[in-house]
Amino acid sequence: MIDANSARAASAPADPSDDPPRWSCPACGAAATHSYCAACGERRLAKADLSVLALLLQVAESIIDVDGRVFRTFWALVLRPGELTLAYAEGRRKPYLAPFQLFLIANVAFFFLQSALGFHVLSNTFESHVRDQSYSAHAEALAERRLAAKGVDRAAYDAYSAHPDHVSFVRDRWDNEVTDFLELDSEAL
Ligand SMILES: [Zn+2]
Repeated sequence: MIDANSARAASAPADPSDDPPRWSCPACGAAATHSYCAACGERRLAKADLSVLALLLQVAESIIDVDGRVFRTFWALVLRPGELTLAYAEGRRKPYLAPFQLFLIANVAFFFLQSALGFHVLSNTFESHVRDQSYSAHAEALAERRLAAKGVDRAAYDAYSAHPDHVSFVRDRWDNEVTDFLELDSEAL
C-alpha cells in the first residue's frame, strides 16, 4: 500500500517554488538559502535596499536604536552587575553591545554629560594633586621630574607661585571666576 505522501512524491516532480530560493552571497561567495548568509551574516539584497527611502530608514535605525541593544546593555550594566560579563562568556553576545563598543559609547556619553552639566570630574588643582591625595607622594615625584626636564627647579616654581602678581591673579580672577566651574574632590577641614 502506498501512502499519500510517497504517492505525491512519486507522481509530481519537486515543485521548485517549494525550495527556499538559493542565492550566492556577494560578500563571501557562499551559497545561501535564507534571508541572511549562514557563513558571514550578510543580508540578501533586495531591490528596495538601493532606494533613497532605504537609506533614510537606515539612518533612522541607527539613531533610534531599533533593536534596543544600547538601552538593553546600559540597563543590564546598571541594574544587573555581572550580567554583561556572564552573557559575553556564555556566548550570548547578540543581545548586547560588544565590550569595546560599550566603552566607546560610555566615553562619548561621559564627556557629553560632563560638558553639558558643567561638572569636571577630572579637574583638580596642582596643589591638591601634590598635597591632599593618597597618591600625592607619587604626584610630587612626577612634578619634580617634569620641572627638572623643563629646567625649572622647584624653588623657582614656588617663587612663581608666591609672586604677588600670581597671588593676586589667583585671588581676584581664579577664585572668583574659575573655581565655580571646578569640582574638587577634597576640601580643607
Ligand atoms: Zn556570506
